[in-house]
Amino acid sequence: MTFDRHALLRAAVELLPGPTARLDAEVLLAHVLGCERLDLLADRGPIDGRAVARFQALIARRRQGEPVAHLTGRREFWSLDLAVTPDVLVPRPESETLIEAAVAFFTAKGRAPASILDLGTGSGALLLAALSVWPDAWGVGLDRSVAALRVASGNARTLGFGARVSFLASDWGDALEGRFDLVLANPPYVPTEADLPREVRLYEPAMALFAGPDGLAAYRRILPQLPRLLAPAGVAVLELGAGQQGVVGALASAMGFRPRFLADLAGIARAVLLTRSPAGLGKPDSAD
Ligand code: GLN
Repeated sequence: MTFDRHALLRAAVELLPGPTARLDAEVLLAHVLGCERLDLLADRGPIDGRAVARFQALIARRRQGEPVAHLTGRREFWSLDLAVTPDVLVPRPESETLIEAAVAFFTAKGRAPASILDLGTGSGALLLAALSVWPDAWGVGLDRSVAALRVASGNARTLGFGARVSFLASDWGDALEGRFDLVLANPPYVPTEADLPREVRLYEPAMALFAGPDGLAAYRRILPQLPRLLAPAGVAVLELGAGQQGVVGALASAMGFRPRFLADLAGIARAVLLTRSPAGLGKPDSAD
């Protein structure tokens, strides 16, 4: 028995919630058929019963809230095809703002970073995107989660960046000495009691999302480490949650950084760029 793809997709869209129902159904059907989403409708061939059963099983899991990236095991970030598991945060398009901010910074300076550090690397998305921008750079990715490091190093190998990158288990920068031209981080910044969509709260790693009652715990750990991790003319680019511009900017300024912000496509200040302010940096966390 065979099935018509248009009818299958229409039926699935009826079942799926939210504004991305059509997109989700197409991505999942393309995954089952092993083709690109854009080729899905160009190809008119019928679909056999086994593929239909697999597709319907994925639709059922999606209805329960499982992220599409977990169902396919892949997510695109900065045009890189990344493997994703429940051990890592699913890369978000708005996190590309950090790469845009770093590119704008180094382009304006007329130089490229030689060394890149990614604090809490997760899938490796930010670090690997940066390595794809600057082909002569090398990088270090840190994460407290060894399971995440496995995902990140697998992605580095698959993308051909294996020789330019090292991954290390570390609670933020604790295990590391050295200075980097570019420090990236998408830390957890969600207040513990915040109301998150079910698919995020149930399926993505709490360690990558939550940062204490005010959502600032990770910044309070990371900011004091930056003076010893950042090269003198380097820049740190951190992700922010909506509405955190003022408070994170104030924390960073109090530590002697000059903060600048870049908005994402929704107009939310999503990236903060930190450079050493001319007055110098105060209170580093080590004899430095
Ligand atoms: N942006 C994520 C969300 O969807 C949070 C990621 C983070 O805390 N870094 O809530």
